[in-house]
This record gives sequence, structure tokens and C-alpha cells, in this order.
Amino acid sequence: MGLSKAIIEKLISIVGESNIITDDVELLVYEADGSFVYTAKPDVVVFPRSTEEVTRVVRVAWENRVPIVGRGSGTSLSGGALPIEGGIVISLARMNRVLELDVENETATVEAGVINLWVSDALAKLNYQYPIDPGYYFPADPGSQRVSTIGGNISHNAGGVKCFKYGVTVNNVRGLKVVLPNGEVRSFGGKVVESPGYDVVGIISGSEGTMAIVTEATLRIVSNYESVKTILAAFNSVEDAGLAVSRIISAGIRPVALEFMDRIAVNAIEAGPWGGGLPTDAEAILLIDVEGSEPGANSEANRMIEILKSSGAYMVKLAKDRAEANRWWGARKQAFGAMGFVGPNYITGDGTIPRKKLPEALRRIREVGNKYGFRIANVFHAGDGNLHPLILYDERKPGERERALQAEDEILRMCVEIGGTITGEHGVGYHKKHLIGLLYTDYELNVMKKVKSVFDPLGIMNPGKIFPQ
Ligand SMILES: Cc1cc2nc3c(=O)[nH]c(=O)nc-3n(C[C@H](O)[C@H](O)[C@H](O)COP(=O)(O)OP(=O)(O)OC[C@H]3O[C@@H](n4cnc5c(N)ncnc54)[C@H](O)[C@@H]3O)c2cc1C
Repeated sequence: MGLSKAIIEKLISIVGESNIITDDVELLVYEADGSFVYTAKPDVVVFPRSTEEVTRVVRVAWENRVPIVGRGSGTSLSGGALPIEGGIVISLARMNRVLELDVENETATVEAGVINLWVSDALAKLNYQYPIDPGYYFPADPGSQRVSTIGGNISHNAGGVKCFKYGVTVNNVRGLKVVLPNGEVRSFGGKVVESPGYDVVGIISGSEGTMAIVTEATLRIVSNYESVKTILAAFNSVEDAGLAVSRIISAGIRPVALEFMDRIAVNAIEAGPWGGGLPTDAEAILLIDVEGSEPGANSEANRMIEILKSSGAYMVKLAKDRAEANRWWGARKQAFGAMGFVGPNYITGDGTIPRKKLPEALRRIREVGNKYGFRIANVFHAGDGNLHPLILYDERKPGERERALQAEDEILRMCVEIGGTITGEHGVGYHKKHLIGLLYTDYELNVMKKVKSVFDPLGIMNPGKIFPQ
């Protein structure tokens, strides 16, 4: 859109010369997100260092009706952080302080630009009375937790491997400090577990930056258990692995994490430096954590092993120590990046399905792959029914990217058809807004738009996201 010199000068006067980018080449970094499917260049990127500076930047945008897009680390996989209509990108990267660790109230208060894993790292450094007090961590743990920010996690309501037991990000946020589009600073929620009235923290969480800029968050932290058991199971068919998942859950066992990877995914991981000794001959593997007291975790693990064997696992292994378990989990967390070993490009799909439809969904994903001639790897949070089909394609071949996007579309439509949704954790963003009508009626979408307009009456917050128009 092009901002006037006067606006740029005003922004410089707020954040200072060293906290603003206007140079065309430097702006290239901010024209993409983790999906690399679309690009959109901002007019300017600012790096405020306090809520006060965010407020003043936002006021400039409000007065001049300029779009504002919040940005954490830019790892969004749905085009969420792209400034589709240009304007001001507000990077929270320099608001990265852990403000308070309050173990008694089981909360951590942090600035929005804090990297997810830093919260648990900071908690690990506290002086606990182990083993009486086994320490705390932040349980919402996306695969991107080494790089993505708490602000980005909240805005996209990120999920992770432990979310099966502890819930997704919104379930682990107690309070928020936000800057509204008119520059007002507001706080919602706090350290208490439950706040009466409407759940405004819940409304802002997952709103994909379309309502307010999050500047601080009070997070729920949880304590480590005395014992964690990690189990690896290998199957000759994806259907058997899917069946095992259904059986585990219907047996009333609630593992902390229950992850699925298919043969393509495992082979990609094992081909690279992050290999964790996962079985490359399996059609599917499950990686499972159970936790509790030593006897409790042992008995859950034993029940789990029985179910896995009776569901057709040809190999079931209990990690002999934490080092082995960490190798397996380290491998799992590198799954997306490892796709580079088996294909030049890939699209990270993200949909959910009812868990008992897992075998059907996997079969239909395979059919889509065959129809379009693409290999599709599957990595997903099986406990949540959150699929991540990774569609491998070659951008250098004319038309392949478009066909890969069509294949993704077909998979997401299939998810909805069997009772699921078009995203489990990566957000609707720009990428999937054309599909949101599959889930909601016009009335329901209008309710959401009205809620947004209460926060953002001028429509300047991250425009062009979530809603088709
Ligand atoms: C390798 C890899 C693995 C991943 N694994 C997972 C996973 O397991 N689970 C998962 O859920 N996601 C995953 N993701 C997706 C991504 O990491 C998450 O969506 C993450 O929450 C984005 O955080 P970010 O800091 O990078 O935010 P960004 O990408 O910068 O922004 C994401 C969205 O939040 C908005 N936003 C950011 N900060 C603020 C703020 N302070 N105030 C208001 N709006 C803001 C942006 O406008 C945008 O809409 C993965 C991505 C990659 C590349």
C-alpha cells in the first residue's frame, strides 16, 4: 500500500532507528512464513521493546487506518503472519523476557516474544527439592517449540505432542495483556484458574492476530511426574496402528503423548542426522509416553504394551532410559524438517478427524496421493485425531505446486466429510479461508465477524485472514 514518509518518521520516533526495517531487501525476510506457499511484503516492520511502544505504534496505525500484523517467529504454516494488504508488521521478537515464575500459583508470566521452550528452560533452572518437588514445565509443546513464540502460539492456539493430556495452548493460558487496535491496553484473566463471565482470554487465543496484539501472557505450568515411560510400537499396516490408537483410548488409558508416523516419514527422519533408531521397515509406528508414580507409570505401560501387541504390533519396545526416549522424541520433533531428505518441496497439511475414523482417513489420504501421483507422508498427533499429511512435490515441475495444493484441499474436504475440521493447530490464516464455509453457516461466521468487530471496528488487525471476504 505504501506508507507516507510522515508515518515512517513517526514510527522511527517511537521505536528508534535500530528497531525498524524499511529497506526493500531486508523486508524480504518478512514476506513469507513457514509455509512458503504465498508471499506478501510489509511496508515496514517495527520491533517494539515494551507494551507502551506497541501502544504508540498501534495508535499510528489506527489514526491512519493502516493494517497491522503481529509477528512472532514467522513459523506459521497457514500464511497467518503475512501482511496480505501490506501495512505495519509488529514483530514481538524483542519483547522476550520471562517476567515471573510463580510455582506456588503454577504460572509463568512472559512477554509475547518469548520462545516457547524458554519457559520450560527457565523453570528447569529453579532450585527444586528433587525428588519431593520434581520441577515444572509449560505443557503446550508444538514441534516448533525451539523457535516459535508464546504470542504466536496463543494467536494460533498451537498444539503439540503433550496436548492430548494437557490440552492445546488456550487450555494453558490464564491471563493476557493485549493492545487493542485503538491503542488501549487491556488485561484479561490472571493467575486464578477460573474467571467468571465471558472467556475473553479464550476468544483472543486462536483469533490469529485479528483482534489485538498480545504483549504479555500468564501461562499455566505443570509439574513433572516421578516417572515417564516411553513406548515405541511398529506395525505392518497403518490400519493396525490406527486400530491400536482406538483401542488404547477406549481402554480408558490417557497417555501424555500418542504420536503416529508412517513409513515415508520414518525413513525421511532416519535418512538425516536426527535419526533416533526408529524402525525403517515398519509401515507405521506409534510413539507413546505415559507418566505417573513409578508403579503407576509401570502398570499403565504394561497395559499399553498388551494392547499394542494384541492390535498387531510386530515390535513393541520400552525405552531403556531417558536418553533412548529422548532420541526417539528428538527424531519425531524433526519430522517436518526431515522431509527435505525425500523431496524438494512439501505442503504441511493440518486437519482433524474423529479418532475412530483414523484407518478410513489414512486410506483416503493414500487414494488422494495415488490420484495426484504424489507421495504423502503422515505424521500426526494420533491422540487428538490431528493429521499432518505432508504432500511431497517438486516446485520446479510446472503445475506441481497447484496440483499439490489441490491434493491438500481434497484431503481437508475429506476430513470435514468424515466429521473433522480443516485445521487442528496451524490456523486458518490466509491459506484455508476458502474452506471455512465448509464448517460454519453464514450465521455462525457472522457471529464471529461481529465479535471481531467489537475489538477491531476498523478492520485493521491482520486483514485477509480466516474469513473468505
Ligand atoms: C517445523 C515446524 C513445526 C511445527 N509444529 C507445530 C506443532 O507441532 N503444533 C502447532 O500448533 N504448530 C506447529 N507449527 C506451526 C507454527 O510453529 C505455530 O503456528 C506457531 O504457534 C507460530 O508461532 P510464531 O511465533 O512463529 O508465530 P507467527 O508465525 O509469527 O504468527 C502466527 C500468527 O500469530 C499472529 N501473531 C504472532 N504473534 C502475535 C502477537 N504477539 N499478537 C497478536 N498476533 C500475533 C500472527 O499475525 C499470525 O497470524 C510448526 C511449524 C514449523 C515450521
